[in-house]
Amino acid sequence: MTTTAEAAPATRSFEADVAKLLHLMVHSVYSDKDVFLRELISNAADACEKLRYEGLSNAALLGDDGQPAITVTLDPDARQLTIEDNGIGMSEDELADALGTIARSGTKAFMERIAGAKDAEGSHLIGQFGVGFYSAFMVADRVEVTSRRAGTEAASTWSSDGLGTYTIQPAALADAPARGTRVLLHLKEDAASYTESFTVERTIKTQSGHVPVPIFLKDKPDAEPKQIADGAALWSKPKSEITADEYKDFYRSAAGQFDEPALTLHYRAEGLHEYTVLAFIPENKPFDLFEPERAGRMKLYVRRVFITDETRILPRYLRFVRGLVDSNDLPLNVSREMIQESPVLAAIQKGVANRVLSELDKLSASDAERYLKIWDNFGPVLKEGLYEDYARREALLGLARFKSTTSAGEWRSLKEYAAGLKENQTAIYYATGTDLDRLATSPQLEGFRARGIEVLLLNDQIDSFWVTAGVDFEGKPFKSVTQGLADLSLIPLVEGETPAAAASDAVTGFITFVKDALGDAVSDVRASDRLTTSAVCLVAPETGMDRQLEKLLTGAGRLDAAAKPVLEINPNHALIEKLSAVDAGNDALRMDAAHLLFDEARIADGELPVDPRAFSGRLMRLLERGID
Ligand code: ADP
Ligand code: MG
Repeated sequence: MTTTAEAAPATRSFEADVAKLLHLMVHSVYSDKDVFLRELISNAADACEKLRYEGLSNAALLGDDGQPAITVTLDPDARQLTIEDNGIGMSEDELADALGTIARSGTKAFMERIAGAKDAEGSHLIGQFGVGFYSAFMVADRVEVTSRRAGTEAASTWSSDGLGTYTIQPAALADAPARGTRVLLHLKEDAASYTESFTVERTIKTQSGHVPVPIFLKDKPDAEPKQIADGAALWSKPKSEITADEYKDFYRSAAGQFDEPALTLHYRAEGLHEYTVLAFIPENKPFDLFEPERAGRMKLYVRRVFITDETRILPRYLRFVRGLVDSNDLPLNVSREMIQESPVLAAIQKGVANRVLSELDKLSASDAERYLKIWDNFGPVLKEGLYEDYARREALLGLARFKSTTSAGEWRSLKEYAAGLKENQTAIYYATGTDLDRLATSPQLEGFRARGIEVLLLNDQIDSFWVTAGVDFEGKPFKSVTQGLADLSLIPLVEGETPAAAASDAVTGFITFVKDALGDAVSDVRASDRLTTSAVCLVAPETGMDRQLEKLLTGAGRLDAAAKPVLEINPNHALIEKLSAVDAGNDALRMDAAHLLFDEARIADGELPVDPRAFSGRLMRLLERGID
């Protein structure tokens, strides 16, 4: 659809998602409406930075107006507020594209969350996500965006009341910004306070005081502009001159987060390469933490000029870190494609990643509580590094914290685990699963408990992967409690535990019977030395993978068929002894028992019986017998 100057502008419909989002904005009871200012100023600053970057290779774009600026103008009489920038601007197509559709991964993720959220949560989510341009409709009943792309003559105006449609038409050139974008808000009646200069100035200073573009305020359309933010890069100031609040405001506006930083890193690297880093670890989990597209959120500057936020600065497993690196040595005119290849960037990547890990390590020693909060949020991401980043594996193992059978719900470090190793214990034992409580009571752990051996309880998906990557700590390999023979017999029992007696002939005979009865369903049936109170459990065959990992992979269609498990039977269990004594002629009963034992072991592992109907038939038959 095209628009013509003469006719009435063609009306276009928003993409369905935009319409939904707008509906939510307009009807939102979200009280912190101030964020619209932050969002529009951040867009204006982005536009100025994009121009600054394009101007490096095409100075003509800058013309004789090389100084970036954002001007906010108030018009109390008309109840209007405008935000104007002299940045890159948008062509007609770009206007339709940027303001009529939702392309951004962040806004998409927001829409997905909204779809599943109840009404009351929805308005909350707005605050948490910061959904950009459309937040203008929280305070305005009509928004007009007039824009002129740098280097072009034409200008267009996008206009909408946020109720499902918008128009785009050519703008009167005399009235359009010479370059860049003007966003005009017709404020709602209850948003009139955004024409008070005191309110607006205070809001902008706190929310956006550190954007790298100067901000001017005009309290009336014909007033003299007053500078309210200097556009100086916060990170280039000495640490001693920056307050915690300034860091926080910068973090919020630069990182698009609404929480407090849990860790702030600000330093200047000197020596072979000179660069400044200002980075933050968020207090809360960013919503897109597990979005595959979101590789990282670190921005790259060269001598204060924003270059790109698409270059990977930190490894994937540090993708929750927000902030920027400002390099002194990269050439300013380097293309974004070339940057990726640059040895300077490689040195920066290495330096910053090492520094983040060492700062975390320091924090874990100086303020364990704060560190554990970070680990709680980002541990599952950091653990990806255990198999992705061999070079930093040791550092990451040092940072890792685990729940365990003896930690009573607290986090434990591997150092602490290693300090409690039992006599003859040659491995670090772990159990993987999705549910901590069930893990802690799983029958596979009984033999470990009888020996006082600590078992790490790993309940993040990622755990099943890194533990198989040949990881060891202080020379001790990681070993699953469900994998193969556990070699427990060499480790002494704790006092009060009686050693398991060897299986009697009757029990051995019964085990052979069960094995025949189950046939192909299992790879083996054997007497167990890891069970003390349960009758049965399932473990992986000697060479097989951990059972939890196997379940994950088959569930995800990455593995055709799971290896057949081994059924372990506790030869000292009263039930097993009784079953072993059943007359060999009573095969119907023994058959039912064999299958029920197998199903019971599956249930303890969180699985269904092999054949639920057959299972209930057998259970009923046995119950009836018991009552007779
Ligand atoms: P985001 O800023 O996260 O991309 P927004 O909803 O805030 O999302 O903005 C959507 C898009 O609209 C931006 O990506 C940009 O392309 C365009 N845009 C918004 N405001 C401006 C502006 N002042 N100048 C140029 N482009 C803009
Ligand atoms: Mg934005």
